[in-house]
Amino acid sequence: MKQAFQYKLLPSTSQRQEIDRWLDMLRAQYNYLLGSRFNWWQYNRSDCIIPQGEFCQIACSVGSQVLRDNPDWHSQSASLPQLKKERPWYKDVYSQVLQDCVKRVKLSFQRFIQGDNQGKRSGRPRFKSRNRYRTFTYPQAKDNWLIGNKIKLPKLGLIKYISHRPIPEGFKLKTASITKKADGYYLTLIVEDQSVPELEPDIVLTEDNSIAIDLGLEKLYVDSLGHQVLPQKHLRKSEDKLAKLQQKLADDTRSSKAKKLIRRVIARLHQKIARQRKQWHYEEAKKLCQKAAVIFIEDLKIANLRRRNKPKKVEGQYLANGQCRKAGLNKSFSDCAIAQFVKILQHQAKKMGNKILKVNPRNTSQYCPICLNFVPKDLSMRQHNCPHCKVSIDRDYASALLIKKLGLGVVSV
Ligand SMILES: [Zn+2]
Repeated sequence: MKQAFQYKLLPSTSQRQEIDRWLDMLRAQYNYLLGSRFNWWQYNRSDCIIPQGEFCQIACSVGSQVLRDNPDWHSQSASLPQLKKERPWYKDVYSQVLQDCVKRVKLSFQRFIQGDNQGKRSGRPRFKSRNRYRTFTYPQAKDNWLIGNKIKLPKLGLIKYISHRPIPEGFKLKTASITKKADGYYLTLIVEDQSVPELEPDIVLTEDNSIAIDLGLEKLYVDSLGHQVLPQKHLRKSEDKLAKLQQKLADDTRSSKAKKLIRRVIARLHQKIARQRKQWHYEEAKKLCQKAAVIFIEDLKIANLRRRNKPKKVEGQYLANGQCRKAGLNKSFSDCAIAQFVKILQHQAKKMGNKILKVNPRNTSQYCPICLNFVPKDLSMRQHNCPHCKVSIDRDYASALLIKKLGLGVVSV
């Protein structure tokens, strides 16, 4: 089982400068390697679609008559010694860290062309600016690198860190990454305990050991026991503070140095909001996992909920499409971060031996959970009043009850 531990690093001034220099060099190399992959891809493909639905590759590149070699992981890794000859300052970067940069290019490009292991394709990878390239990784960290509250990193030396939580016994150190964040440098250690196999917990579903939750905006979730958790709205609470700072930044009479300082304050405030939200999600996920062994949730496509409204165009004129109100709703979706909560819940369940099962979300709010009759209601109706069995309960609680029945396989709607 793999786990990540993150610690705050306390590098000296010279170490900080060296980390920044490495990040800059690695970023330049990342952009160069990504550029050469784009080049090859641009000149060696044609857009005619062959019957299997795949792009056909023409036999030679457009510019010259000789087919250029496809820059892949092997050829790009093999180019590193030459790079060190031409630009000797790259010798200062630890070799495995430099190789890991090649791997990052490979992965981001692969996700763009082929998709990940579930076939989900990402967008076109970006060329990284200084603000977007913030991490480098030692892919083969050794256990003896950790000495007390210091870590001995090759070519960077001994760096102090705040060891607020010890790594459990029996775990082996796999990788070590250094990340630059708004408030300093962080060390992320991936550790693995090979004695614990990664198995799905074998739990028999019963009425008593399972619980269902209905996720939403008005309440983060309502469970099938009737317990509800209201959203904390961390972003909304700090919105005024943020707006004041943004206004200060927009004031163009200030010097660039002052602007830099304000930008830093804004970045830290955003970091604080994100941390508050994450902490809250972890606490709520843990409470849920302690309640029941099996948790049913709706299989929501959360990215779709945050889409912009479609423009309404009649005879060349754009009509009001409600996007102004939808923008506020989208902000609340981001503030609630349902997707992050689901991810943290899954992680927590794995750690605590719980099982998360996803249920089809279609029509879970339109049927009565008691008599299973169809009771249509729009979004503004917050109460479920069944004309058939005369039950009157909260709409989200009704959904949670129905999700539990669906999960247990009692009903299908
Ligand atoms: Zn009913």
